[in-house]
Amino acid sequence: MAMKMYFDNAATTPIDPAVLAEMMPYLTDNFGNPSSIHEYGRKAKAAVEKSRKIVAKYLNASAAEVFFTSCGTESNNMVIKQAVANLGVKRIISSPTEHHCVLHTVKTEGNKGVAVDYVQVNAKGDIDVAHLETLLAAQPETKTLVSLMHANNEIGTLLNIRHVGEICAKYGALFHSDSVQTVAHYPMDVQATKVHFLSGSAHKFHGPKGIGFVYINGNNAIQPLIEGGAQERNMRAGTENVVGIVGLGKALELWMTEGEQYRVHIESIRDYMATQLQAEIPGIVFNGYTDNRSLYHVLSVSVPANQKTELLLFNLDISGICASGASACASGSIQASHVLEAIKADENRRTVRFSFSKNNTKEEVDFAVAKLKEMV
Ligand code: PLP
Repeated sequence: MAMKMYFDNAATTPIDPAVLAEMMPYLTDNFGNPSSIHEYGRKAKAAVEKSRKIVAKYLNASAAEVFFTSCGTESNNMVIKQAVANLGVKRIISSPTEHHCVLHTVKTEGNKGVAVDYVQVNAKGDIDVAHLETLLAAQPETKTLVSLMHANNEIGTLLNIRHVGEICAKYGALFHSDSVQTVAHYPMDVQATKVHFLSGSAHKFHGPKGIGFVYINGNNAIQPLIEGGAQERNMRAGTENVVGIVGLGKALELWMTEGEQYRVHIESIRDYMATQLQAEIPGIVFNGYTDNRSLYHVLSVSVPANQKTELLLFNLDISGICASGASACASGSIQASHVLEAIKADENRRTVRFSFSKNNTKEEVDFAVAKLKEMV
């Protein structure tokens, strides 16, 4: 097989070999159901609780505030739908650059009668915090949920989550942050950050797919979205994905011990690619930021549209370079995205997102830049 270079780590990451090794026994010998009282069950239960403690430690939360779900999408759906259903939320404030799993859920709640407001974003994808405050101040009596992502998955722009938490607290609003792109990558402290709900997903940090978690601040008891058994202390029914939970815990633990090394390496790769692209390809610009106001593992590259760049992703793929469009697109051609629309990106340009992991090298970047140069 021809060499493949994987620059799509914001879409998903490969499972770390150490994570897989930790998971394997739970696919074979340790197959018990955590609800069973016998030894197999107890072993599985202990493994689940071990992972929960790791997540709680990472968040500086109590283990009782951490619930495992099937993915980031489920966590986000659960918070938004159940905050409306159980906590008396009558208004949601979100932004036009959220992930579809937030945007579509907010829209559904809006169709059911909840008031919905969107905070303005600027050309870099920053949330207009003054506008958020204006919206909150306009209806101080209305029970409000603010749902804003910690970092944008397409262009990388980061939210000042502490500041937004302070503002929400000032107006008594609940605050949910889709942190799927930042969990593990950045430190998180829910004692210092006034966030009520936070979502994460293992496959974005070298854990397995199909396992996520939601942090629910102890004072905001929502009811389960998925009903049935008493798993996850009655918050999420269904037999636990034990092997996934074990993988999530191990993957997060690795980041808690080795993360600084990963970050330094990945950031140097991102910076190197940005520098090389600008040096080699005239007319390259970037969506969002290329400094610490952006995810250090995302580089959203914008090129002039022409016949060649319409099939850029497809041609990169043929050259063994796996990158992403601004949004998922099946044809290999680059489509407009709601995020690029919201930041009013130039319609005459095309975007390709490179996103990095600890496995990427400068040699891979050199190769990708050379190929991109031929294509642009
Ligand atoms: N939120 C953001 C910002 C994401 O990037 C993603 C995944 O692409 C999700 C939510 C959905 O997470 P999951 O794939 O675990 O459902």
